[in-house]
Amino acid sequence: MHIKPEEITSVIKNEVEKYERYLKTVDSGTIIRIGDGVATVYGLDECVEGELLEFPKGVYGMALNLEHDSVGCVLLGPEEGIKEGDVVVRTGKIVEVPVGDRIIGRVIDALGNPIDGKGFIKNDGFRPIEVKAPSIIDRSPVNEPLQTGIKAIDSIIPIGKGQRELIIGDRQTGKTSIIIDTILNQKKKNVICIYVAIGQKQSTVASLVNTLREEGAMDYSIVVSASASEPAPLQYIAPYAGCSIGEYFMEKGKDVLIIYDDLSKHAVAYRTMSLLLKRPPGREAYPGDVFYIHSRLLERAAKLSEKLGGGSLTALPIVETLAGDVSAYVPTNIISITDGQIFLDSDLFYSGQRPAVNAGISVSRVGGNAQIKAMKQVAGTLRLELAQYRELASFAQFGSDLDKDTRRRLEKGKRLVEILKQDQYEPLDVNYQIIMLYAGVNDFLSDIDVKKIRAFEKGFFEYIKSSEILLLDSLKREKKITDEIKEDLEEAILTFKNMFLEE
Ligand code: ATP
Ligand code: MG
Repeated sequence: MHIKPEEITSVIKNEVEKYERYLKTVDSGTIIRIGDGVATVYGLDECVEGELLEFPKGVYGMALNLEHDSVGCVLLGPEEGIKEGDVVVRTGKIVEVPVGDRIIGRVIDALGNPIDGKGFIKNDGFRPIEVKAPSIIDRSPVNEPLQTGIKAIDSIIPIGKGQRELIIGDRQTGKTSIIIDTILNQKKKNVICIYVAIGQKQSTVASLVNTLREEGAMDYSIVVSASASEPAPLQYIAPYAGCSIGEYFMEKGKDVLIIYDDLSKHAVAYRTMSLLLKRPPGREAYPGDVFYIHSRLLERAAKLSEKLGGGSLTALPIVETLAGDVSAYVPTNIISITDGQIFLDSDLFYSGQRPAVNAGISVSRVGGNAQIKAMKQVAGTLRLELAQYRELASFAQFGSDLDKDTRRRLEKGKRLVEILKQDQYEPLDVNYQIIMLYAGVNDFLSDIDVKKIRAFEKGFFEYIKSSEILLLDSLKREKKITDEIKEDLEEAILTFKNMFLEE
């Protein structure tokens, strides 16, 4: 064989030109202390706040305390089998959740893993759990109603798409029930519902999922669950994870409803984590930034401008109080960052007024703009009448000889309160709500016994469905009570009342 030197040099030159130094650096550290779901890691020089870290045994952690030569992090999984001296590796990613359309209808944990036994969820990508809230110019005013299907709420404390409305009350006062009804009421309304369960019993979550499934509401819902048995860090990140999933849909122009049940337990989980990380405790042993963790979460609820697709994310956080004390640390904080609150009263609940909405101290600060005209027409009077009734009722306890006008007002008030009662799992279409409230506020029910009001309502709706469907259609179309509708409606009420009284 004949070797040409120039050929060899050209080959060598080529190789030299192609040469690249591949250098992969792995930033890692070693555990110097671990316990209670918290680890201190030495090294990890380039580690950033909120970064996902890989521990041995496939467990992940999140970096929270960045100190001079060590990093304090919380474990997002079981710590069994992980020991001092083990190696921790940076992933270079902030903690994120999988997002995508196929998550709808599923039950997932705080990291997006399926926990409903229905197998792998194919995602369309990932999204960090902490995202900056939309800015002022990205938003448009709240102007569309989000109907809960509950008379006491849609009439007096209306909620709009993109709003944040707090549901607050003692334990076992029907907080979760209101949420379930609201989710059920979104059926066929093109709203995606996300229920985030934080620190609840697994059996409670299971029965909620069951109810949603039975009522066909899982088809448009997602449940994110970090139950009481899961480590505090998972309970802490669950609402942010749920919110990120919601934002994914919102940015696609969809309407999303997200529920955080409940933020008191979220604050407790954060307190646990902070104390273990040796952050200084403040009032009620909560760390100083417990306010910020909730405000940055709730700020992410928004109604986006038309330019950004007009999607919305409505947030309904729940807070549990102790003996109705709304001035405790966490409740006052959250009251100040939301656009209003629905206060559930345990006295009302046990006296049989269910849902136990206390109309006096519940408010909605933006919802009024989002009410349909017809509802506004009846709700204005309703609020006034109820306030007067409450005032008179407390006076009337003491005296028996009341004048005629006072008696009339009291009787009317009793009937209005009765109309606002509603059973569980029976959300009511807004048009039905309007016609019943119309009958109440315009004094059509004064000759019906208070105990029979609910029977009247039931019969009346049936009558409307069978004989007055045209009236209902025109109300749906017009969205306000025109003179014509008013005439027809009053006639329908009177006709049915005569039938009802004859029975
Ligand atoms: P917890 O503090 O345990 O989370 P909660 O405030 O979420 O409780 P729920 O679990 O919703 O309360 O309701 C408590 C009980 O009240 C349940 O047994 C429920 O069936 C009942 N309940 C709630 N709303 C109504 C209603 N409108 N009519 C009749 N019963 C109701
Ligand atoms: Mg509950």
